[in-house]
Amino acid sequence: MVESSDSAQPMRVAPGRVALHPGRLACHTQTFKPWSLTQCIDRLGAAGVGGVSIWRHTLDELGVQASARLVRASGLKVPALVRGGFFVASEPSGRELALDDNRRAIDDAAVLGAEMLVLVVGAVPGVPLEEARKQVADALAALAPHASACGVKLAVEPLHPMYAADKSCINRLGDARRVCEQVDDPSVGVAVDVYHVWWDPELEAEIRRCGSSQRLFGFHICDWRVETRHMLTDRGMRGEGCIDLATIRRWMERAGFSGMVELEVFSEHHWGRDQDEVLAEMLAACAAHG
Ligand code: ZN
Repeated sequence: MVESSDSAQPMRVAPGRVALHPGRLACHTQTFKPWSLTQCIDRLGAAGVGGVSIWRHTLDELGVQASARLVRASGLKVPALVRGGFFVASEPSGRELALDDNRRAIDDAAVLGAEMLVLVVGAVPGVPLEEARKQVADALAALAPHASACGVKLAVEPLHPMYAADKSCINRLGDARRVCEQVDDPSVGVAVDVYHVWWDPELEAEIRRCGSSQRLFGFHICDWRVETRHMLTDRGMRGEGCIDLATIRRWMERAGFSGMVELEVFSEHHWGRDQDEVLAEMLAACAAHG
């Protein structure tokens, strides 16, 4: 799939690459953490970016209804509300609290017009991983009818195994696909975040399998810096690291993914800089590297 009509500006692209024009991109609000939601919407809209994926805490500024009015007026699409999940708990009461919180997140996503709620499924030290995965499947099955009624997709995002202890018991795209198949509801699929899955030798095959079952909901991009300085907050912008993003994107598009490409870069380094400059650099990098 080639996008060429999003921008009138000719862009120089590396040989063999297909440019990612701003209109095809959505930025996570967390990528520009120093900005409020209002500032994000304002700056992204002015830069011609096509969408914004909204992190839940940024809704505190205006509230959900006013945030929804603002984003609608801007014309920006909202691929995702980020994030729900954290289903795993050692006690049933903890799991009930998590379900309630996720129902609220689904409601908010619907108000915002978000296509999906991104899920970091959770893990808790002391809860065996197999038990944790069962709790995740149960939670997805419990939430799927509500998500479906609200027109919101649930996107399970596998997280790199370095987070298996306390953030996510689902670490490979194949694991995410299997839990989706277990739940077997069309509103439950996956978000492919390259930071977490770029290393997986099964990645291409799993992207193909997820695509053939209509479960490729989200695509998050950034880069893996060598040497990384922090496991959570040292993501690189496109082209700063070692991920073969053009290839992964080609796999996604061959598998039928036609959604927005979401820029999700947590970086203390970039958060400490002028955010307008960072945005301009990111858009230029996506245009140059595809
Ligand atoms: Zn992500």
